[in-house]
Amino acid sequence: MSEIHLATPHDHSDECGPFDIIGDVHGCFDELVALLLDLGYEVDSNEAMPRASHPAGRRLLFLGDLVDRGPKCPAVLRLAMDMVRRGEALCIMGNHDNKLLRKLSGRQVQIAWGLAETLEQLESESDEFKLEVKDFISGLATHYVLDNGALVIAHAGLRQELQGRTSKEAWAFCLFGEVTGEKDDFGYPVRKDWAREYAGPALVAYGHTPVEDLCWVNNTINLDTGCVYGGRLSALRYPERELVQVEARSTYCDRIGEREAAARMRSD
Ligand code: MN
Repeated sequence: MSEIHLATPHDHSDECGPFDIIGDVHGCFDELVALLLDLGYEVDSNEAMPRASHPAGRRLLFLGDLVDRGPKCPAVLRLAMDMVRRGEALCIMGNHDNKLLRKLSGRQVQIAWGLAETLEQLESESDEFKLEVKDFISGLATHYVLDNGALVIAHAGLRQELQGRTSKEAWAFCLFGEVTGEKDDFGYPVRKDWAREYAGPALVAYGHTPVEDLCWVNNTINLDTGCVYGGRLSALRYPERELVQVEARSTYCDRIGEREAAARMRSD
């Protein structure tokens, strides 16, 4: 790795874990608490002041998309923010966190894809809290290189040649993945399957596109198992490479309905 790479804010090579890496939470606080307990964390699940830490000093890596669609976004934010502040967790930015940041910064954004739920839940929160959330998200990196380059985390994954880079292309890839420029029948961008072609030495853990089952593709793993859609919330123990999952307690968001609503909005 060159010196330029080491100088980037993405570089946390000296942090070697052990880590517990968690996929898209999307406001599923109850499932997050259940998963943390299964992972051996000591958890105070008081939604107004949640806390978690691991007695053996393991740390959490959140893969982004803490908010939107789910029922308890403020509680998820509180827990993640507190853990990051105390050095018990690292968190990278997801596209949903980024959109919330733009909204909180006064920018015009489309209130779709579950953002309405987050905004509604934030309505009863103080302005200080909203400011804290804004500061927290704006301080998040879009990817990290950890453990002497052996581990990379990015919300939508990251091709080898973009790892450790600070560029517009790397930023967009981390948040949105790689797209072909085409749209599907619902108006969704058609995504390229970068993981199938991945041949890098670093394990890449990511989320973003919900999958039914966890499966290793080359040295990559997608940990978004669609908890908010009634699937599961998943974690990867690193370096053990053990997978831990909890079932969603409910289907908080109907994926098909969401796509149809978005298609209607586009044709209006
Ligand atoms: Mn997501």
